[in-house]
Amino acid sequence: MAGRPRRPRRQARRREEPGKDPAARSGLVIRQHGQTAVVEDAQGHEIECTARKRVGRVVCGDRVRWQPGAPGQGVILAIEPRHGVLTRPDPRGRARPLAANLDQALIVCAPEPPPSEALIDRYLVVTELMAIDAALVINKTDLLDEAARDALGGRLAVYARIGYELLWVNSRERGALAPLVERLRDRTSILVGQSGVGKSSLVRALLPAAEIRVGAVSDATGLGRHTTSDTRLYHLPDGGDIIDSPGVRDFHLWHIAPEELQRGYREFRPLLGRCRFHNCRHLSEPGCAVAAAADHGEIDPARLARYRALYHQLSEAAQPDY
Ligand code: GDP
Ligand code: ZN
Repeated sequence: MAGRPRRPRRQARRREEPGKDPAARSGLVIRQHGQTAVVEDAQGHEIECTARKRVGRVVCGDRVRWQPGAPGQGVILAIEPRHGVLTRPDPRGRARPLAANLDQALIVCAPEPPPSEALIDRYLVVTELMAIDAALVINKTDLLDEAARDALGGRLAVYARIGYELLWVNSRERGALAPLVERLRDRTSILVGQSGVGKSSLVRALLPAAEIRVGAVSDATGLGRHTTSDTRLYHLPDGGDIIDSPGVRDFHLWHIAPEELQRGYREFRPLLGRCRFHNCRHLSEPGCAVAAAADHGEIDPARLARYRALYHQLSEAAQPDY
């Protein structure tokens, strides 16, 4: 208790510091490789920056305060407060940010490889816990005749019913990307989903060819070190940004406590607190409002069954090894 009131003051002072510096400017991190970040300034110029040590890990999507140094170079002084942070654990299991200020994740599915509801649920758990929006993008519509489209739509309708938009697209036809282009506008997004559904094809189709070049910047500035595995932020021609890298595309449900899982199911939310036991896990407890809702068809029983399976999986993973 004693130390508590002092903490906010310290943080406030730290945040003010860079602002006091008349030379500090704001920028957006559009590429990041180890300790080096490329910051885009208000005029769209790219500056290669290193971050002061106490700034912490800078990631794509970060809004930063920075100070110019040698031409084309600078120093990051502070990271502006973040929302929508995607993390993954480092080798010691600590959450490490991978991208920041995300507004939404678009979960890409396709007729081939067929969607896995278990995987879609996991992605949605992550987006709910990150407090960002999500939608399902069904790619490769060129492979679907009317009957197949109805069947796939029926299968994924459970997600539409709980408020996740379904967007039907085809990366091979510019005109067939319109719903996705619209959904990406004015937001910062990531595209995720299992391998082979067409995430890279969609990113390629959305961007002008010039944007995709990699390593086109001089080695002298160190930017030549950037590789295809680096995380990058792309501005889309029709508005909005995409943050993309193999690491971002393959994000998983890392290290989540089983008790946290229920917050990842948005249709459970109105029911929470209505179970007989305040700490109900909605597994097999008597008087469970979530189970009752599934019995009455108010929520999808299959999603509840998958929640339970995932709960057990996470509990087992949380057990220490003997
Ligand atoms: P990723 O692993 O999700 O990045 O998937 P890729 O973009 O590498 O695509 C996997 C395969 O699906 C490739 O052979 C693509 O040519 C193919 N593909 C991607 N988009 C479409 C599409 O809209 N229609 C069809 N028929 N194939 C597609
Ligand atoms: Zn319950």
